[in-house]
Amino acid sequence: MTSMKRLAFAFAFLCVATAPAWPDGETAPARDPKQPVDAAYTEKIHKYTTQPFFTSPLVDYLPASKNVPTPQAVLGDVSGAPGILPYAEDVYKYMRLLEKATPRVKVFSIGKTEEGREMIAVAVSSEENIKSVEENRARLAKLADPRTIKLDDAEADKLVAQAVPIYYITGTIHSPETGAPTALMELAYRLAVDDSPYIKEIRDGTITLITPVVEVDGRDRMVDIYKWHLAHPKQFFPWLVYWGKYVAHDNNRDAMGVTLKLTENVLNTYVNWKAQVLHDLHESVPYLYDNTIGDEPYNAWIDPILADEWQIIGWNNVSAMTKFGMPGVFTHGDFDTWSPGYLMFIAAMHNGISRLYETFGNGGADTEVRTLQPEEYARTWYRQNPPLPKVLWSQRDNNNYEETALLTSLHFFNENKRMFLKNFYLKAKRSISKPSEEGPAAYVLSADDPRPGLQAELLQVLQKQAVEISRAKSAFTVTLPVKKSKDSGKGRRDKDEKAEPAAPTTREFPAGSYVVRMDQPYSRIADALLDHQYWSPDDPQKTPYDDTGWTFGELFHVQVTRVTDTKVLDVPMDRVTEVRAPGGVKGDGTVFAINNNGEPALATLRYKLKDAGIEAAEEPFEGGGKKFNRGSFVIRNVNRADLDRTATELGVQVASLSPAPSVKTHPVRAARIAFIHTWLSTQTEGWWRQALDKLAIPYDYMSTQAIAKIPDLNAKYDVILFPPVGFNAGVNPVVNGVPTNWGNPLPWKNTPETPNLVGKNDSTDDLRPGLGWEGVARLQEFVQKGGVLVTATDTSSLALALGFADGISAQNGNKMKIVGSVVGTRLVDEASPIAYGYDEKGAAYCDNGPIFSLSSIAGQRGRRRLGPEMRARPTGRGSLDDPDFDVGRVGVEAPEEPKSEIWELPPVMDEQKRNGFRVIPPTDRPRVIFRYADNKDLLISGLVEGGDEIAQHPAVVDAPAGKGHVVLFSINPVYRGETWGTYSMVLNTILNFDNLHAGRKDTAP
Ligand SMILES: [Zn+2]
Repeated sequence: MTSMKRLAFAFAFLCVATAPAWPDGETAPARDPKQPVDAAYTEKIHKYTTQPFFTSPLVDYLPASKNVPTPQAVLGDVSGAPGILPYAEDVYKYMRLLEKATPRVKVFSIGKTEEGREMIAVAVSSEENIKSVEENRARLAKLADPRTIKLDDAEADKLVAQAVPIYYITGTIHSPETGAPTALMELAYRLAVDDSPYIKEIRDGTITLITPVVEVDGRDRMVDIYKWHLAHPKQFFPWLVYWGKYVAHDNNRDAMGVTLKLTENVLNTYVNWKAQVLHDLHESVPYLYDNTIGDEPYNAWIDPILADEWQIIGWNNVSAMTKFGMPGVFTHGDFDTWSPGYLMFIAAMHNGISRLYETFGNGGADTEVRTLQPEEYARTWYRQNPPLPKVLWSQRDNNNYEETALLTSLHFFNENKRMFLKNFYLKAKRSISKPSEEGPAAYVLSADDPRPGLQAELLQVLQKQAVEISRAKSAFTVTLPVKKSKDSGKGRRDKDEKAEPAAPTTREFPAGSYVVRMDQPYSRIADALLDHQYWSPDDPQKTPYDDTGWTFGELFHVQVTRVTDTKVLDVPMDRVTEVRAPGGVKGDGTVFAINNNGEPALATLRYKLKDAGIEAAEEPFEGGGKKFNRGSFVIRNVNRADLDRTATELGVQVASLSPAPSVKTHPVRAARIAFIHTWLSTQTEGWWRQALDKLAIPYDYMSTQAIAKIPDLNAKYDVILFPPVGFNAGVNPVVNGVPTNWGNPLPWKNTPETPNLVGKNDSTDDLRPGLGWEGVARLQEFVQKGGVLVTATDTSSLALALGFADGISAQNGNKMKIVGSVVGTRLVDEASPIAYGYDEKGAAYCDNGPIFSLSSIAGQRGRRRLGPEMRARPTGRGSLDDPDFDVGRVGVEAPEEPKSEIWELPPVMDEQKRNGFRVIPPTDRPRVIFRYADNKDLLISGLVEGGDEIAQHPAVVDAPAGKGHVVLFSINPVYRGETWGTYSMVLNTILNFDNLHAGRKDTAP
C-alpha cells in the first residue's frame, strides 16, 4: 500500500473513530484543531503504521512545538521507525532535552545498575505541578501513612481533594522486548506539548512518572545485538545470553527478595514518590494484553479494593481501544496474580495499583510478517475483536498500541483520581488496622534464634521493602492460637469429638526480639513474605505462572512466629533503623571457636582470613560453658584483632577457648572454585553467582567451552560448581550445544559494533558449541582424580545421565506437580560435613525434583516406590495376613526380604552377590545427606500434588566417584536470593571438599 492510500484510509478511519460514545461528561479523544501538527513527523507515523486500524486518534498525529524537540532530534527519525533502537543513553539524552526545553518535564536520577549505568525517572505534568512536587509529596505522604493524620477520614478527604496523583510507568525490564523506550519518549513529548483537552487534562491533573529503561545493562546489550544484525543482515544473530549482570527474564521475579539494583531503584522511586500506580511494560502477546486482571488465583494478601481497581481500569482500557477499532485488545487471560515477585507487584504490596501490559514486539525494530498460533487469534468471550492470524507488523504499530493504551489509562485514571487517591488512603488505613481485622498482629523473630546472621538478612529484605522493624525492650509473652486438627469438619468428627480440645499455648520471647508490627502502612508485603502459601491441587488454574510458595522464614532457616495476640503491640519497643547481627571475639586466648548453625557468613570468614588455621570439629563439643555443634570452627594461628574485625563485620560470634577442645577435627580450606555456565542460558546460574559475590567468595567463572580446554583441572581447582542450566537442559544441548553444521558463528564479544555485549561477564567467538565430549571427559577425570563436582536439578540429572556417579539415578515425576514450592526436608546423615549446622527438620525450594533413587548395584536404575500395591499378596486362599498354601506339600515360608527405607541404599540380595562384580563396595556407595520429608510433611508452602513420587527420596547426595565426589542436589539450594537457609549446604561442600568422607559410617555388604 502506498503511503497516500494509507493516509486516506487513516482519515476515513478517523471520521468513524471520533464519534464513539464516551461516558457523560468525559472528554473525547481528539486533537486540538487550533494547535498545528508536525506534518513531517505525522506523515512518517502513517508511513510506518502497517494497517489503518493499528493506530488511534490519540497517536496518529504529532502536535508541533516551536521550542520542544521531538524524539526525531535524537533518533534521527520518528519513534517506532524501522531500524532504530536507541541506547539508554540516547533515551536519557532526549528526556534531558525535554527537561531543558519545557518546565513541564523534570528528570531524576534514581540510582545505578550492577554495571554502573544510570537509571532515571522522568516526571511530566503541568508547570505548576512540577514546581510544587515537594508540597504535593508531603500531601501524598500523609495519605500513604494515615497514622500521620490519626486515621482521620475527613482530613484524608481534604488531602484527596488537593493532591495530584502519581502514575509511574516502567519500560523494557525485559531486554528483548524493545519497543517501550521510543514509545515512552514520544509519550513524554505528547504529555508535555499536546493541547488537546484530552491530554491537557492528564497533564494538569496527574504527574506521569516514567522510567523508560528498567534493565539498562540489558538494553544496551540488546541494542548492540540489533546493530550487529543490521550490519550482517543475511546472517543469524546471537541470542541475548546475558541481560543484566546476573539474571535475564527473572529480573521481573525479584520484587520479593529485592536483590537486583533495578528492583531496589524502582521500589525506592515508587515508595518515595508515594505513587498510586506502577505500570510495567512488556511485549510478548498480540496485540495488547492488560494482564493485570489475568486469571485466578489472585494473591491472597492483596486488598480486595485493588482487585476491583484492576477490573475498573483494565476493562475501561479494553472498552476505549475497542471503540478506536484497534483489534486484539483484551484483559482476561491465563496469567495468575499469585506470586508477588513481579516488578509491578511492588505497587500491589505497597497500597498502590499494579498494572502490566503485554504488547506485541518484534524483538528489534525490523518490520516483519508475523504469523500467530490459532489460540492467539481465536475469538473468545473476553477477546471479541481478536488479533489477525497473519500481519505485517512494525515497531511503530507496537508503539501506537503502547502509547494509545497508556494515554487511555492515564486519562481514565485522571478522571477518577479522587476515587483512586481515596482508595490509596483506604488501602493504607486497612493495612494499619490489620491486627484488629484479619490479623495477624505481628511477626516475631526471637532474639535467641541460633542464626542471627540469617535473621538479619531476612529483616534487611523487609527493610528494603520499606517495612518498619521494631525491637522489644523487655521479655514478653504472647498467646498462640489453638492449632485446628486437619480432619475437623471433614467427616472424621467422631474421632475429634472424643479428643480433648487443645488449649492455647503461650510463648515467651526474650528482650531484644524483633517485632514486625502489622499496624503499619506496609504490613501487607511483610505479611505476604512471612506467611505460608497454600495452592490447592484442585485449583482450576492448572498452570501456575510462577512459583507457588516462598515463605521467607522457612527459606531463610529463621524462626518466624505469626502472632495474632494483639497484646504484642503493647510490648515496649523501639524502631530499628539498622539491623545487624552481633559479632566479634569474646574472651582472651589464642584458640577460638565459632558455633556452626549453617550460617553462610562462616564461609566468607574462611575466605577473608586466608592465613588463619581453621578446623572443623567432627563431633559436637563443649567449651567455656558453651555447647558447640558438629562442624563448629576451631581457629588457631590468627591475629586476634583481624579475627575480631572480620567477625564483627560479618556478624559472627567468636568465643575464646582455653584449653583448646580435644574434639576430632579436620582442616577447613578455602577451596579453589571453578564455576561453569553454558551459553544456552545464564540465568539460573546467575542467582548462584550473585550469592557467591554477595558472600565475597571468589571463583573462576567460565563457560562449558572454556573448561573443556583446561588440560589438568585438578591442578587448578578443588571444586567445580555446575549450577542449574534451566529449562531442564539435557545431554544433547549441554554437550553438543547449538548445531554448528549450518549457519554462521554467533560471537559474544565486544567489538566497535557491539561495545556493551560482554560487560563484566564472559565472552566467546561463537555461542554455539557446548561442553563437547572432550569437556565431559575432562570433568569426569577431575572427579576421578579427587575433585568435587557440585550439581543441582538439571545438571544433577545431566551428571547422572553421563555416568559421573553410580548407585543413584534421576527421573522426572509422572503425575508430580511441585511448582516452585517450599518443601520439607529431613537430615539423614548428620555426621556429613555437608550437613554441618543443620537441624533434623528443614525446608528447601523445589521445582519438580528430579527424583533421585538409590541402588547398590552399579548400572542399575534405582527403585521407585510403587505404593501400597508392593505390600499386596498374590491371589490364593486365606486373607491378607493369613497366607496361601501349596496343595499336596508342607508349606515353606519365603525368606523375609530385607527392608530398607526409600532414602537408604537397598541391601544387596543373595542372588546379586553371586559373581557380584556389579555390587558397589559400601565405601563407594552414595551417601544421602538430606531427604525429602514424608508425604504428609512435604508441603510447607505452595503447590504439592502427587508428592508421594518424591517424598522420602534423597534431596542431597554425596556420591563418591573414584577419588572424588559428585554432590548432587535435587532441590535448588541457591535461588532468587530467597533461599539463604540452604546456601550452607553448598558452602559446606566447598569448605570441606577434601574431607567429605568425615563421619561416614559404612556397613558390611
Ligand atoms: Zn516481559
